[in-house]
Order: sequence, then structure tokens, then C-alpha cells
Amino acid sequence: MKLRYLLIAVAALVLQAPASEGKRWWSHIEFLADDALEGRNVGSAAFEKAATYVEGQFKDIGLRPGGVSGYRQPVKFESRVLVPEQSKLALLRSGVEEPLTLREDALLSARGELDGSVEAPMVFVGYGLSIPEAKWDELAGLDLHGKIAVYVNTTAPVEVSDNVKSHVTSAGERWAVLKKAGAIGVATFPNPRPPAGTTPDAASAGAASGRGGAQSPQPTVVLADRELQEQSGQTVSITATRRGAEKLLAGSGHTIDELEQLIVDRKPLPRFPLVGTLRVQEAVKRETVNSENVIGIYEGSDQQLKNEYVVMSAHLDHVGIGRAVNGDSIYNGAMDDASGVASAIEIARLLKESGAKPKRSILFMAQTAEEKGLLGSRYFTSRPTVPFDKLVADINLDMFLPLYPLKVIEVQGLTESSLGESVRAAAKELGVDVQTDREPEQNRFIRSDQYSFIRRGIPSLAFKFGYEFGSPEEKTRRDWVRDVYHKPNDDLKQPVDIEAAAKFNRVILGLLQRVANDTARPRWNDTSFFKRFAKPDLH
Ligand SMILES: [Zn+2]
Repeated sequence: MKLRYLLIAVAALVLQAPASEGKRWWSHIEFLADDALEGRNVGSAAFEKAATYVEGQFKDIGLRPGGVSGYRQPVKFESRVLVPEQSKLALLRSGVEEPLTLREDALLSARGELDGSVEAPMVFVGYGLSIPEAKWDELAGLDLHGKIAVYVNTTAPVEVSDNVKSHVTSAGERWAVLKKAGAIGVATFPNPRPPAGTTPDAASAGAASGRGGAQSPQPTVVLADRELQEQSGQTVSITATRRGAEKLLAGSGHTIDELEQLIVDRKPLPRFPLVGTLRVQEAVKRETVNSENVIGIYEGSDQQLKNEYVVMSAHLDHVGIGRAVNGDSIYNGAMDDASGVASAIEIARLLKESGAKPKRSILFMAQTAEEKGLLGSRYFTSRPTVPFDKLVADINLDMFLPLYPLKVIEVQGLTESSLGESVRAAAKELGVDVQTDREPEQNRFIRSDQYSFIRRGIPSLAFKFGYEFGSPEEKTRRDWVRDVYHKPNDDLKQPVDIEAAAKFNRVILGLLQRVANDTARPRWNDTSFFKRFAKPDLH
């Protein structure tokens, strides 16, 4: 009996996170989300402080530098700000110029490459989607060469999985399809039925409206490397208001009321040319911005497998200083995503302290510019600091929300790859359940840095604290998304369950070790939509 108790006690010691782990985890957030760090905007001196902090931690722990220069992988960006006084939009019809008012009729995004002027015809292309698996192609038979494609910024009424919908409606994929059809730019009409509880999308909403909901435009930030620019070839990028849409539709035989009704009724939309041409004049102020991903490696022990890498990633940037809410203008980003970076640091430390010898290496990365559209991770997966075909998985932590005790982990990507079984087993060891995404319509699997890995064929997972429908936990999480997400009060004053976070870290530690020790590298499930991105020779 005694021996049994002793064994149980030892097992509990190994598996359970002592209170000190939670405190240590929180201490990193206290540094990274302090007002002094000014919301860690890309390119700011405060971001550099954050990078130096993480670098110091990685060094302390004894991780091997995994960057290009020590722990750092420099990433160059171009920041673009529209000069409104020198920018204008007008419709040209039968030789008559009809000016459109910026803001009231349309927003002009510096995401477009134009610096000067252009005049182009416009074609309304409905939802603007081509989804082969649904035999849905709104671009079939249309000539978009030299034209601006006008579409409603929402998903089409087709029966496909949420993953397919998420993928095809992402800004990058949408543009890839339109560009192939010859388009030189895009103009969007507003979605008359935004899904309830929608939160802004890093890639699209930020570009149009600026962070914090204010109209004062935040710069558009793109990777300086043209080869890696998703929107390359997109001369103009316009977001029409409802009033602007009415003006663009005038004379076409169609009205915004008609289109909105079709969308609400989930019907296909007509496709037709708009009358006249659009004249766009755009002046943009460009600047180079330097930032970096911070990378440390925990070396594997197996002669062969140590050359393969399991990536543990979390984004270091947040949105900086913005519009004041209740007198506070610092968007601290404590949960988004100082919490994930803190976990990555702590998990690396636990690994080291335990003396674990995983077979594969584990690459810890605190990446930049997630908030600008997953750019730091895009850069890393395109210009990796280790051989690309040796990246076996990405375990990404972004705002996992430890707001209540941990009973169940929501896993984004649970049913997509063999990583699902690995996380299930790791969670079970600590008495934690797993569940699939509670809100698949939010497209979370493709809305953080893991998507950069997924698009390049690498199996990935992301997480949130889970809940049962109708539970108090569901309310806590929904309230947080509504009241705290991307607001100045995502700061150090909010209630966080530090012990639950430490337990979560232990689960992720177990997951990393499983993936690092498994003889087979992770594979996409045959049923997964994302399997198509994997290179066949690797899997
Ligand atoms: Zn985030």
C-alpha cells in the first residue's frame, strides 16, 4: 500500500504543475504586457525590448540559437500609409467624372500597390469565389483582364466544410484566384449579414479600418520581400460602403437591395459589368520597418531524428498604441499573445529542468507581425532557418484564454492530422479532455500563425480553453471576446487562472514530447482538406 501511495505521489509530482510554475508563467506576461512595452507593435522600440527579453530567456534556459544572427531571424517589412489629400476616387461615365468621397463612399487601402493613377473597368463577380470541390465557379467565362473585380465580402451559399470556406475566403486565396483570372484590383461590397460575434480578421479588417476601430488609418504592413507578398499584383484595394456600392451599381440594372436580399436568402448572385470606369489616384508614404522572429532550439537526442524539428510558436507582437478606451490607449495584449510567448518560454524551461531527451529537436519561436496578417510566420515558413522539409509540425499558442479551471482543451485542427491523437493522449495523462472547435464559423484554424505552416503542408494545431455549451465557462469566454479582445483592457488587471495555465503548459509539454519521440512524423488525415498542401514525397 505504502509503495502504491508513494508511486501515486511521485506521478502527481511529475505531472501536476506546482503553483510556482503558474507564477513564473505570469511573470513573463507581467514584463511583456506592462504599459512600458506599449503593446509591442512591429517596428517599435518596445517590440525590441520584448524580443530582447525572449532572447534573454532562451539563452538562460540554454536553448541553442536558431536564428540567422544568434537567436534572431531579421524580417524586413514595408509600411504603407495612404496620403488622403493626394488620393481620390471617381467614376467615369460617358465622359463625365463623378467623384466618390473617401470614407463615406469607399475606403482606399494602402494594401494596393498603386502609387499614381489608374483607370479601369469593373465587373461584379458575386461572391468572387471559385471552389472546385463544390463545383462552384463564379469566375467561369469572365474576362477580368485589366479590370477591377467587385465582390461581396462574405462566403458563398455552398455546401462545403467550414475549413474549405475559411480557406477560399481568406484574403490571400481570394486574390490568388482573381489575379489568375486577370484582375488588377478588388473592390468589396459590405456583407449584409455579418455573423454574430465576429471578431476582426488580422488580414482584412485591419487593413481597411485600422486597429482599435478608429478611422485614423494605421499603416498597412507588408513583407518587404516582393516574392512573399500575398497581394502582389493587386493595384488597387477598395472597400465600398453601402452608399458607395449604390453608386457603383447605378445604371447596371441591379441594386444593392436586390443583392442583399439574395445574400440573406443564401442564393447565388448575378455577375455583370458595372457602368463606366473607376479612376483611382493614390499617394502612399512608404517606409522600411525592421523586426525579427526570435528562435531557440532544444536539441534532439536521436542521431537521425534530431535533424527534424517540432515547432512551438507564439506571436510576440500586438497592435501597439491606438484609440483610447476609458482613457487607456495602450493595447497591452496580455492574453494576445504575451500568454503564448510566456508558455513557450516556460515549456522550454520545463523541458530543460526535466532533463528530457526528446528524439527530434524542438524549435521555439516568438514570431513577429502576426497582427499584420501572419507575416512573421509566413516569412519563417518561406525562408526557414532550418531545412524546410525537416519541419514536421507546428504547435501554435495564440490567446489560449486560461480564464477558468482547465477541464477541456478546444483543439483547432483536432480531426485534421495525426497530431489530434497526440494531443488527446497528452491531455488524458493530465485528466484533461479535448474537443473540436466550438465556433467553427470563426475560422480560427486559419486565423493565426499555424496557417502559415498549414499552407505549406505542415500539420499544425492551435488551442483554446474549452467549454460545454450553456456553461458559465462559455459565457466567460464569449464575454472576453466581446469586451476584451483587441482592446486596451487585455492587460495585467484582468482575472486569469494562473494554475490552470500552468496545467495547460504541462499538457503542451507532453504533446511536444510525444510528437518529438514518435517514430513516424505527423501526417495529415486522408479526409483533411489541408492534406492538399503537403508535398507527397514528405508524407
Ligand atoms: Zn493573437
